[in-house]
Amino acid sequence: MFDIDKIEAVFQETKAAHDKGGSSWADKIYRAIETASLGKGLDIEDAAALLCVSDQGSRERLYKTAAQVKGRSFGNRVVLFAPLYLSNFCTNGCVYCGFRAANVATAAAGRKALSVDEAVAEATALAANGFKRALLVTGEDARYGVDFIIERVKAIYSKTGIRIVHVNAPPCGVDELKELKSAGVGVYQSFQETYHKPTYNLMHPTGRKKDYGYRLSIMDRALEAGFEDVGIGALIGLYDFRFDCLAAIAHSLHLNERWGTHAHTVSVPRLRPADEWGLKEAPFQVSDEEMKLITAVYRVSLPTTGVVVSTREGAGLRAALLHCGASQLSAGSRTNPGGYSEKRSIEQFSTDDKRSLEEVMASIAREGFMPSLCTTCYRVGRVGHEFTQTTLKGDMERLCQANAILTLKEYIEDSRANGSRETLEGALRSAINGIKDLSMKRAVLEKLKKLEQGERDLFF
Ligand code: SAM
Ligand code: SF4
Repeated sequence: MFDIDKIEAVFQETKAAHDKGGSSWADKIYRAIETASLGKGLDIEDAAALLCVSDQGSRERLYKTAAQVKGRSFGNRVVLFAPLYLSNFCTNGCVYCGFRAANVATAAAGRKALSVDEAVAEATALAANGFKRALLVTGEDARYGVDFIIERVKAIYSKTGIRIVHVNAPPCGVDELKELKSAGVGVYQSFQETYHKPTYNLMHPTGRKKDYGYRLSIMDRALEAGFEDVGIGALIGLYDFRFDCLAAIAHSLHLNERWGTHAHTVSVPRLRPADEWGLKEAPFQVSDEEMKLITAVYRVSLPTTGVVVSTREGAGLRAALLHCGASQLSAGSRTNPGGYSEKRSIEQFSTDDKRSLEEVMASIAREGFMPSLCTTCYRVGRVGHEFTQTTLKGDMERLCQANAILTLKEYIEDSRANGSRETLEGALRSAINGIKDLSMKRAVLEKLKKLEQGERDLFF
């Protein structure tokens, strides 16, 4: 495993250097941003320095650099997905979560685990809105473990228009992870919540999640089990974000060193109020400006990793984060099982951005980005080491861009766009005009014609 004490030492030294200030600190920041602009990632020392940047001028320079690095890695596409909550039964005691075992309101409102048919109905509702990618989410309860998830993954693939299923489920053993992988799950995602052990212990007083080390080693088990794409994250607001984000970056560097692949995604979930919260407020308040800093530092430190922003954040901040290097957004999310088919059950936490997929896609387009419903890489095996290397070489950008065009065209052709058709058609036209490689442009135009003639699911 990676050495968490070393992360703590680097963080403390960097904080001291920041507090001392002066020209050597200013030089350090200048050089770290220069290194970031190369798009090859950062070491822990430079990442720590950028997480500690407090002057607005340097922050703005960093945001611009992060946006450029994002453009070079993935073009201007922004990938969209929806979470699908399968079950809110949970035997853990995470004090910040609406699903925790002691939550009486959840019990009163009826904990809910979706039957296979109900899960299919939820996925069908998402697909009817145009989603192609779903992230299945569960609480931790042995009755609704890996077998329960797998049955639903298989049914969703065989009965709905969802093309790739990812999973955010409690850590488990290598054999169970192998089963999940062979059911066709794309990304295995799990958040460490906080890498700071004393805070972790306070926040997770009961249940299997109490075990800090078991959770910290989950991604090594997932990669051992054959997952090539894994998603990591820290729950922002539990502890000093500078330490937690630095540790998440170190986590990805460790995975790359040991398994030859960086984390496929890093999420930036910020703590939100939940029913019967065990907290009075977030232990560490994190401002919107700091969310921009976190997004930008993740982006430049891990240029091949998707930076994921959920509907925990409002529309205005989500738009701003796109200009700081974010590359994936969820949309139209419900955090209660059955939420898309309008069944009542308790939410895990309240969301801020309530807009539909179409509204989010249109706003992405208005910000100058391309909304993308692409699911190609997982399905053609462009994953793990190969994905990391292809992105570092700069070869993903044109593929991402072309696939964003094809999936947006499909979305429009299927008449998913109602109020925003003009905006989305405008984004499509300018993306097609922007393709520089002429043979790629020809190939895209050919596939667009086929989509108009009724073919579907075309990609590069
Ligand atoms: N139960 C599993 C677990 O804890 O690993 C899987 C998914 S949990 C439903 C998804 C994530 O939601 C958690 O890892 C946590 O980071 C986040 N979460 C929980 N409560 C939250 C809250 N009040 N605000 C924001 N995010 C929260
Ligand atoms: Fe259960 Fe996950 Fe919520 Fe913790 S965060 S109470 S494990 S659903």
